[in-house]
Amino acid sequence: MREFIRRALQKTSRMNAEQMQSLLSLVTEEYETLNAVLDSLGTGVIVCDAFHIVVMSNKSAARILPMEFREAQDRPVWSCVRDQEISRFVEETIEAEDTVLSREFAIHELSVTRYVSVGIMPLVQKKAVRGTIISVEDITEKKNEEMKSRRLESLASLTNLAATVAHEIKNPLGSISIYVQLLRKAVDSCEARSDSKFSEYLDIVDEEIERLNRIVVDFLFAVRPLKFELAPMDIGDLIRSISTFFGEELSRANVSVVLDVAEGLPRIRGDERFLRQMLVNLVKNAMSAMPDGGTLSLGARQRDDSIVVAVEDSGVGIPQDVLSRVFEPYFTTKADGTGLGLTMAYKVVKEHGGDIRVQSEPGRGTTFTITLPVMRRAQKMIEYGEGAT
Ligand code: ADP
Ligand code: MG
Repeated sequence: MREFIRRALQKTSRMNAEQMQSLLSLVTEEYETLNAVLDSLGTGVIVCDAFHIVVMSNKSAARILPMEFREAQDRPVWSCVRDQEISRFVEETIEAEDTVLSREFAIHELSVTRYVSVGIMPLVQKKAVRGTIISVEDITEKKNEEMKSRRLESLASLTNLAATVAHEIKNPLGSISIYVQLLRKAVDSCEARSDSKFSEYLDIVDEEIERLNRIVVDFLFAVRPLKFELAPMDIGDLIRSISTFFGEELSRANVSVVLDVAEGLPRIRGDERFLRQMLVNLVKNAMSAMPDGGTLSLGARQRDDSIVVAVEDSGVGIPQDVLSRVFEPYFTTKADGTGLGLTMAYKVVKEHGGDIRVQSEPGRGTTFTITLPVMRRAQKMIEYGEGAT
């Protein structure tokens, strides 16, 4: 098309009005196509002439670069750019007739930060510099992704380091605990025991060891990449066994238990060890929410393709502003809490392809609802197939 127009232009002196008109409309069409292409580009393009005045720009440029395009007709392009840093960069690069493929800038406007990359190169026509092409790109998303993955990377290495340290702490903790027991025996057999405060001090050391141990164990649970071994299992059985396990402790704490496990629940694919730990965490939380006793309901029923497990207490409840934070690592309102119990519960449920939610009314109680997917038919067939061999 362009070649055709070029050849036609050489013959204009011999053209009649009609031929002239059709040539003009061809040129217009060509111009419009070019404009449409420019406007469809995600990259912003600004073309300046030799006097640095904007002669062409596309929609993306207006969207990405903070700039006064209306004033751009009689002022050098850089003085129309609202961002000072970019303006200076554009001026210096153009004045030096430099080529910069991409320079990143942060733009702070209306309390949001955007990132743009600006490229500047001379516009060369017929072997001479006729102006400048400025290209701008919004790289906010890319930049945020980059920052996020960098954060995740450093978090992952930090987590690994922390897990190693926690693991290292566990060993001396174990031997301290053994020596404390030995000391206690020695003190107990000592004549002067009744006058000494040895026993009392040893109790304190013991408590502190137990506390440290709990912190380390919970921490390891929360940060270590857990290795799940999923196998068909009955969640109803697990809930019943938890209820038996805590039976005595609960009745001593004046908590009555209501078991509401539906009969014949389909099995799930789960790691029993981790699911047990998760339920233990929830029950322990419920118990500390009912210091003066109350009711703990443990329920399980089927809903569509899921098993819904509910752990409900009639305890102190969770205030609204705290509710959204309970799953956060290290969030705790307890003087001796680790704030990792619910983090671990969340992690376990998510690993099982499920969901955990919390509802609470201060003064009335709290319900944790866990949804776990039922084993699919295909999984069952594999299991039966395996069983037959
Ligand atoms: P921790 O028990 O060590 O504090 P968790 O992660 O288990 O850590 O729980 C975080 C916080 O969530 C608790 O400190 C408490 O404030 C709140 N919470 C959890 N379960 C309950 C509950 N059943 N009733 C009231 N508050 C709860
Ligand atoms: Mg807890």
